[in-house]
Amino acid sequence: MSHASSHPTASSAQGQALGQAQPPLLELEHVTKRFGGLPAVEDLSFSVRQGEVLGMIGPNGAGKSTAISLIGGALAPTAGTVRFQGRDITGLAPHRRAQLGIARTFQITQPFAQLDIRENVIVGALFAGHERSRAAAAQRADAVLERVGLARKARLKGEELTVADRKRLEMARALAIHPQLLLLDEVMAGLTLREVGEAVELIREINQSGVTVLVVEHVMRAITGVSDRILVLHHGRKIAEDAPDVVLSDPRVIEAYLGERYARQRAAEQARGARESERGTPELPTPVDTWKEGQA
Ligand code: ADP
Ligand code: MG
Repeated sequence: MSHASSHPTASSAQGQALGQAQPPLLELEHVTKRFGGLPAVEDLSFSVRQGEVLGMIGPNGAGKSTAISLIGGALAPTAGTVRFQGRDITGLAPHRRAQLGIARTFQITQPFAQLDIRENVIVGALFAGHERSRAAAAQRADAVLERVGLARKARLKGEELTVADRKRLEMARALAIHPQLLLLDEVMAGLTLREVGEAVELIREINQSGVTVLVVEHVMRAITGVSDRILVLHHGRKIAEDAPDVVLSDPRVIEAYLGERYARQRAAEQARGARESERGTPELPTPVDTWKEGQA
């Protein structure tokens, strides 16, 4: 969970005392993106506060990756405004947004196949232009590779990596630019249960170091464990945005995405958790929740 949001900085406390509400770190206002007339994202408005973790869920085709691309700058919206730190960035190129501190990972990982892991991260670090020299970028790369657990594999080529390592490399490349806002697009897909646990822990650590996070994920237990709030997309539209517990028990969200099986499993887990805490025994581990397939 976000610690930055529960412990406001001196400057934000001052701003609030003066009655000047700090603008959200990120704001989307009535953002629409159409592809050949078909809306992938439609009239989407939400904001992300400095220091929080916002989870974004929804079935395949709901518009999650499109939303990430509209924030990162890979796509320009058909209509609407994207603001970062109160500034309109709607027309800004991806590398300019990276310079401002917006970093993203890609759902379809695309490392440079002939470069090794370390070189891939150095390219990422140089992309935003924060590092003045290749030596500084290399130093930054080594630090982030250590952080994501890839230091020992630094010499492996992009094309030699496993799914889990490609996801870690995506994280490392994003972290290399010293982000203020980190956009994570399904970094846990294809990971084992243990690797999911490690990824959740890493996201918590990154957030606690002061980075605001927008995380798109299908692994329900991971997203509820790490998010301060969850936003649900359905056919490009926002249908819910609230605390994880509220969103996951929202009848519309259950009906449209989670399915009755998920709702029953969740109710049973909660009942079991309550019984066990009465008896004082630890809660049993539960299976990784899977998304209801075949919806979009
Ligand atoms: P999600 O990430 O939630 O699975 P996407 O954002 O990838 O969803 O896709 C949303 C919709 O937009 C889908 O119907 C998809 O086919 C369409 N779409 C996404 N990218 C493109 C594109 N570059 N060209 C045309 N259609 C696209
Ligand atoms: Mg996607």
